[in-house]
Amino acid sequence: MAIAGSGVLPAEVDVAVVGAGFSGLYMLYRLRGLGLRTVVFDDAGDVGGTWYWNRYPGARCDVPTTDYAYSFDALLEEDWVWSEKYATQPEILAYLRHVADRYDLRRDIRFGTRITAAAWDEAARRWRLRTGDGNEVSCRYYIMASGCLSLPKAPDIDGVDRYRGEVYLTGRWPHDRVDFSGKRVAVVGTGSSGIQCIPLIAGEATRLTVFQRTPNFSVPARNGPPPADRVTQLATDRDGYREAARWSRGGVPRELTDVSGVTAPEQVRRERFEAAWQAGELFAILGVFSDQGVNAVSNDHVAEMIREKIRAVVSDADVADALCPKDYPFGTKRPCLDSSYFETFNLPHVRLVDLRRTPITAVTEAGIDTAEESFEFDAIVFATGFDAMTGPLVSVAVTGTDGVTLEDKWQHGPVTYLGLMTTGFPNFFTITGPQSPSVLSNMVVSIEQHVDWIADCLRRLRAENLDRIEPTPLAEAGWVQHNQDCADITLYPRANSWYMGANVPGKPRVFLPYVGGVDAYRRACDEVAEKGFVGFRLDGPAGSRCNDGVIRRLQPDMAMVLDLVASLGLPPIETMSAADARAFSEATAASRPPGPEVGEIADAVLPGPAGDLAYRLYRPPTQGPHPLIAYFHGGGWVLGSQDSDDPLCRDLCVRTGSVVVSVNYRHAPEDRFPAAADDAFAAANWIAANAAALGGIPGQLTVAGWSAGGNVAAITCQLARDAGGPDIASQLLLAPVTDCDLARPSYASNGEGFILTAGLMRWFWDHYADAADRANPKASPLRGTLAGLPPAVVVTAEFDPLRDEGDAYAEALAAAGVPVRHIRARGHTHTSLTMVDVVISGAPVRAEIAEALDSLRSVPARS
Ligand code: NAP
Repeated sequence: MAIAGSGVLPAEVDVAVVGAGFSGLYMLYRLRGLGLRTVVFDDAGDVGGTWYWNRYPGARCDVPTTDYAYSFDALLEEDWVWSEKYATQPEILAYLRHVADRYDLRRDIRFGTRITAAAWDEAARRWRLRTGDGNEVSCRYYIMASGCLSLPKAPDIDGVDRYRGEVYLTGRWPHDRVDFSGKRVAVVGTGSSGIQCIPLIAGEATRLTVFQRTPNFSVPARNGPPPADRVTQLATDRDGYREAARWSRGGVPRELTDVSGVTAPEQVRRERFEAAWQAGELFAILGVFSDQGVNAVSNDHVAEMIREKIRAVVSDADVADALCPKDYPFGTKRPCLDSSYFETFNLPHVRLVDLRRTPITAVTEAGIDTAEESFEFDAIVFATGFDAMTGPLVSVAVTGTDGVTLEDKWQHGPVTYLGLMTTGFPNFFTITGPQSPSVLSNMVVSIEQHVDWIADCLRRLRAENLDRIEPTPLAEAGWVQHNQDCADITLYPRANSWYMGANVPGKPRVFLPYVGGVDAYRRACDEVAEKGFVGFRLDGPAGSRCNDGVIRRLQPDMAMVLDLVASLGLPPIETMSAADARAFSEATAASRPPGPEVGEIADAVLPGPAGDLAYRLYRPPTQGPHPLIAYFHGGGWVLGSQDSDDPLCRDLCVRTGSVVVSVNYRHAPEDRFPAAADDAFAAANWIAANAAALGGIPGQLTVAGWSAGGNVAAITCQLARDAGGPDIASQLLLAPVTDCDLARPSYASNGEGFILTAGLMRWFWDHYADAADRANPKASPLRGTLAGLPPAVVVTAEFDPLRDEGDAYAEALAAAGVPVRHIRARGHTHTSLTMVDVVISGAPVRAEIAEALDSLRSVPARS
């Protein structure tokens, strides 16, 4: 078997690939299939990538090997039988060697060759690559298949070079067996690598000292034969199983749960947790509850149950306590799978040094000094991790179109389109690059998806006589934003993890992988390609084209809600009677999260022009009096009540520290225009007159409302100005109806698919007002006089049919001299902000609203 590629390095190839691990091997296979002349470079002496270097004792995969394997060739799958649920490094390496042999890949791979620099030559439309030994190769396309965790982080500890004993780095382990028998050994680091090697090193060493800075969550792997159910599934329906993996959240087929850790009873919580604990799989323990990745309470239930397990295993209570992670949510640092890790600390010759209590002061000639003690060792193992995801990419001096290097471009964090390409670096692809699912998924599934996408892209470029592809700044900025949006709704940013770049001093703190899921990501990539490479500029002999755009603009959690709603196939509300529509809206409201706790809630009535109006009062838990908000619910003047907007009112109460009085008003079609507006004005008068009795501060009244409630709130402010009272300090209009003209562009662009449809708005108007009345400012406040109105906070949502009329109202108020804070809820729909604790991305917008209201309260109105 030839290990290194032979022959003279060609001066020109179609494609150069860096890395001969899982990604590079499959990429080479696909490129050959396309007839593209390809050369692969790897620093290592053979194929394997991460599995070539990480030879430390105990190294295994942490996704079941049945899933952690190529799926592109059924015959390959039939030929290879894994011996264990989690195969060892030698077995995985043997598999990759088998793949290289089977497809005769090595002849195009240059081993022991590092690419040190790459520069784009615009005139030639080629990349010029330089190797460590001074050779050059030019290629049309340059693909980094260099892995996410391939550049070990240098141990950043004072004195490391001074130490005279044996030093090992888990990520660069020697090829010959290391024997720790009879030795005093230190292991620094308790991530996946440390947790895997510690039990095995303890089995040999006479003394093992583990230096732990941050304890890690770890789950028993329960290794053994490959899981029988999966083996059977693969044997009976391999294609179905692999396809399910491709469209799963994490790259392993799994039923997702809808059980919330917040609302599930304790017994259910424990049963679900125990089942996941027994399964010994990362995706199981990461998916005990639907909300554990986004809700701190739910997350802490899982975290605490794991801590209970650790305390039950480790005999010494102090050691157990030190091994319990407490200062970051479960899953926000990569959890580990172990075999007898915690049990190892019960052995008499194993000691844990908690660096939080006694930090390392220096590595000495003989060992390690901490703040309290000097240790002597025969060997030190650094399991201190990697410069993850971006490190391997920027470690090559890659220079793009403007002479800018990748390192410079990414100095504040990676900026990519789909994690596949980056502007200014044409024809340069990164397999499992930052801002793709990569490390949050089963890597092999994500690798195959990227390789297939790139191969298909190159095939199409050639077919269309094009030879240059580069993402546009618009598409790239949109993808970066979408990544950020996805991460922001999770608990991930709360940990100092390598996912955040926090393990490398000086590295920007940016969440690196795409957290929206393998399925959602694949959909986005497919859509980009199907719609003519959205967001890419393509050039070549055949000309130039660009279908510019942003592939994902909706907030990710709102997108999930819309997908769910679409999947339910519900009849449109506008096809129902008013009574049925009300019943439907009440039933929907009954099943949602309640919103935050407030100090007090009281139901009562106030006098309206045609009878009593029910209201619900929300009082903050703090000592009053408080500012006062008269609030009017949404529902198109037809639906809704003080119940319908309950979570939003609680949230407003808590965030603004205000007493909120949510008033019901008469509904159409029973009571048509102007009943709702008259009721709202009367209610505001009554609330202002009774401010002190309600616990409010007289003179600090905000009139607020959402949707149709925003309509009557705006009208109330106009009526109050004209009537000389009540005195309204500010108005808060959330996605308000301000005009009867339904021809604005937002009706066309957002009129379908975002819950509030154009058809439903027409139905609302038809129920509420005759055509002749609609232009009346008491129905369309945009047509009223706006000067002299109270300062306003106007909130409009990007994907709302009502967006443009809300924008128009904000602009008209400002033009009339009214102080306005116009908050544009990016990526949101008409209903987003009301979906408290469902659409988590709405929370920062509501926080901004509260802050805006607070600042406006002190601004006097101009007349
Ligand atoms: P890691 O998770 O980054 O862990 C590094 C450990 O070293 C951490 O405990 C870290 O503490 C500690 N450390 C770093 N610098 C230190 C210093 N100067 N002083 C003291 N302690 C220091 O790295 P890893 O264990 O190599 O794992 C990286 C990733 O590779 C894993 O998360 C996983 O995705 C993958 N991996 C997978 C497997 C597998 O099971 N298939 C095995 C190995 C690795 P802090 O946490 O305080 O920074």
